[in-house]
Amino acid sequence: MFVDVAKIRIKAGDGGNGAVSFHREKYVAAGGPDGGDGGRGGNIVFQADTNLSSLIDFKYKKKYIAQNGQNGSGKRCTGKSAPDLVLRVPKGTLVREAETGRIMADISGEEPVVLARGGNGGWGNSHFATATRQIPRFAKPGAAGESYEVTLELKLLADVGLVGFPNVGKSTLISVVSAAKPIIANYPFTTLTPVLGVVRLDTDTSFVMADIPGLIEGASEGVGLGHEFLRHVDRCRLLVHVVDVSGSEGRDPAEDFEAINRELGNFSEELSQRPQIVAGNKCDLAAPEQIAAFREKVEKEGYTFFPITAAAHQGVEELIRHVALRLSELPPIREYEPEAVPVEQLIKKGRREFTVRVEDGVYMVEGSWLMEAFGMVDLEDEESLQYFQRVLRDTGIIDRLEEAGIQEGDTVNILNIEFEYVR
Ligand code: GDP
Ligand code: MG
Repeated sequence: MFVDVAKIRIKAGDGGNGAVSFHREKYVAAGGPDGGDGGRGGNIVFQADTNLSSLIDFKYKKKYIAQNGQNGSGKRCTGKSAPDLVLRVPKGTLVREAETGRIMADISGEEPVVLARGGNGGWGNSHFATATRQIPRFAKPGAAGESYEVTLELKLLADVGLVGFPNVGKSTLISVVSAAKPIIANYPFTTLTPVLGVVRLDTDTSFVMADIPGLIEGASEGVGLGHEFLRHVDRCRLLVHVVDVSGSEGRDPAEDFEAINRELGNFSEELSQRPQIVAGNKCDLAAPEQIAAFREKVEKEGYTFFPITAAAHQGVEELIRHVALRLSELPPIREYEPEAVPVEQLIKKGRREFTVRVEDGVYMVEGSWLMEAFGMVDLEDEESLQYFQRVLRDTGIIDRLEEAGIQEGDTVNILNIEFEYVR
């Protein structure tokens, strides 16, 4: 079974609690507070793993919970922080928050990505002794780790995607141009899982090709096979549309060609605009007039056409060289940017709890949800800046700053982002 979507729950570890403890020593009367801090909870981290090709593991195990930090203890002992829980996913996995559908991360690079942050440990009572309060009988509990329900969606990373009806020769083509060994047989739907192949032209030119299961009419409406596989060509920079020009199975190549393009368009407008090259396969079975007629049709529509006989390796080299050339002119494979939490969502979730304190004249805004809201704000970017301002206003941060007596020109610090307050 090929699994390319899954829904799981992730929960980072809670921070350990701070300790309430007092220094004890023989013959020493009143020991001071010596309660240590709690340790940090473990993060949930995603890491791309090139050895994985499906999300099958996540079909069976649905909950991933990182360990909590240890509680602090006496003698100012800090609790141990918990290790991160690393989830390995195939390269190209898109992580979305289930509730809002927003993209949290695109696990396409080498770098591990923290998706849920562990809670900070609470302070032990040793932090709370002051001149007037020498016996603090309290400590802070650890903060809760972030928790999300997320959907995982694999969108393969390939430069070129093969599209076309079943049985037109897509698998044959990829097996001829790469080391990929898909199943090839004379019946539809032999390909049930996408196959990636590396096509190597020479020492410094190569690209990745994806053979995805054949599309059938109505696929984009979820009729039968195909629809769910289109996500795998979503990132492809170029499509090679394979058509059986011989019409060997009583099919009409021109109709097939249009049907597939309609399907692509129904799935996404963007995909139907993707650069596309047409490979007319099974030329060995086609009459020259058939090939010429089909070529004329597609060239009129502006496509580049290559007649091939994949099974006999004919015409394939020319096709591949042209593909490489086109790729060299196209932008790199798309990576998705994380999306901000919608402001409405922040408010709905009641994420209004935060504190404002003034430290050396700087207004420090602190709260556990701030990272979620501001973690990826880029003040250089206009749209991001607007979002930032909306969150400040709509979650009541501005009001609280005003209550705290902020004046025009004062400095505000949120997650180490410092900015000047303007009304
Ligand atoms: P897919 O479903 O598009 O992946 O098609 P396959 O690659 O599995 O091929 C379907 C059938 O067509 C197989 O029996 C292949 O051997 C045959 N086939 C593929 N390419 C050619 C070709 O160029 N000429 C002929 N005559 N048959 C081919
Ligand atoms: Mg196939």
